[in-house]
Amino acid sequence: MKYYSTNNQAPIADLQKAVVKGLAEDRGLYMPERINKLPKEFFENIEKMSFQEIAYTVANAFFGEDVDPDALHDIVYDTLQFDCPVVNVKDNIYTLELFHGPTLAFKDVGARFMARLLQYFINQTPNRQQVNVLVATSGDTGSAVANGFLGVEGIHVYVLYPKGKVSPIQECQFTTLGKNITAIEVDGVFDDCQALVKSAFMDEELNNHMKLTSANSINVARFLPQAFYYFNAYARLKEKLKSSQLVMCVPSGNFGNICAALFGHEMGLPIKRFIAANNANDIFYKYLQTGKYEPKPSKQTLANAMDVGAPSNFARIYDLYDKSHERITSLISGATYSDEQIKQTMRECYQATGYILDPHGACGYQALVDGLQPGEIGVFCETAHPAKFKEKVDEILGIDTQIPERLAAFMRGEKQSVAMSKDFADFKAYLLKQ
Ligand SMILES: *Cc1c(COP(=O)(O)O)cnc(C)c1O
Repeated sequence: MKYYSTNNQAPIADLQKAVVKGLAEDRGLYMPERINKLPKEFFENIEKMSFQEIAYTVANAFFGEDVDPDALHDIVYDTLQFDCPVVNVKDNIYTLELFHGPTLAFKDVGARFMARLLQYFINQTPNRQQVNVLVATSGDTGSAVANGFLGVEGIHVYVLYPKGKVSPIQECQFTTLGKNITAIEVDGVFDDCQALVKSAFMDEELNNHMKLTSANSINVARFLPQAFYYFNAYARLKEKLKSSQLVMCVPSGNFGNICAALFGHEMGLPIKRFIAANNANDIFYKYLQTGKYEPKPSKQTLANAMDVGAPSNFARIYDLYDKSHERITSLISGATYSDEQIKQTMRECYQATGYILDPHGACGYQALVDGLQPGEIGVFCETAHPAKFKEKVDEILGIDTQIPERLAAFMRGEKQSVAMSKDFADFKAYLLKQ
């Protein structure tokens, strides 16, 4: 499969290059030149298949031309060692729980899949040079990437995070791992971490010294595997569905997750329409209303993993539908919620159903409450386990959220991190010694 850039000014790439480079030379996002439709028989039998079997079929359609079948099978089964159940919350509203992975957030799947695919490609190269992944995080991405890459031979990960700006629960998920994961605690804010990473990629001396790459969410190997989730949702609900009733609602920030769902739809997945649920960062919502895409600085909200002012995967959605506002709005609608509304939704849902929403999932749930039409069945993604946001959830609901054992185990680990100033010269000197 060949990959082109959404900016159309970069050479066509193969999968290996798209995965190793992440971003095209013209700063565009890589898109597969074709999206293979899955056969009718697959959809006829999908409800009898396991999550892993479904995922392998989907992965094969994207990556089968470029990855050896046994290796791809191994990568899929290694990535999906947990389930993603569909749970009824009330009436026609269901949730697709994407938080049963190692760090209890949906990014686990993309992170692990990418780690294993990158390893596969490193092993194909003659000298098997070690690859170093640099990732800046404000919380969730760092934990998913660190755990996804943990113990993967041939790759070392440096997670840069802002000192004192990450919740203790998040911090322990990437500072206690050891092995091939190094946490770097930067005396600064998230933007300083991101600036250090960007400077490192541009520094010639550093790039001659070591092979650097990113594990950014725009990477095709990180966003595409998220399509697995949506096929599984359909499979688990199929017996309850009449034709074309299914509405998929995705709490969105950078729009990678919903973009994967849209790719699934292009492969033939019978979803009637989509809702992109936003917090107060309403750039996509405004685009749907006006046809104008106007990035803005992000606003801090309760659903902080969706605090994105310039959603990077917008370029992919725009390209997928030939830049047609009409095509996009006929398939996708939007919703936007303030922190006050998020809190209210969490309380109302908890009181009415007993289901504990996290602040991100709350946007998705409310968008279905507000937007579902008679006869439709709505599924919203719960993108993170509520315990990941325990301080907030407990305060809003007046409860003591139980911490799953997997999370508790991280919290018992010993924090190890390297203190770093926000000065690039210091970071560079550190990397040159590695
Ligand atoms: C990353 C994240 C999102 C947003 O997903 P995108 O793919 O960036 O749209 C939503 N919720 C949680 C908990 C996340 O970590």
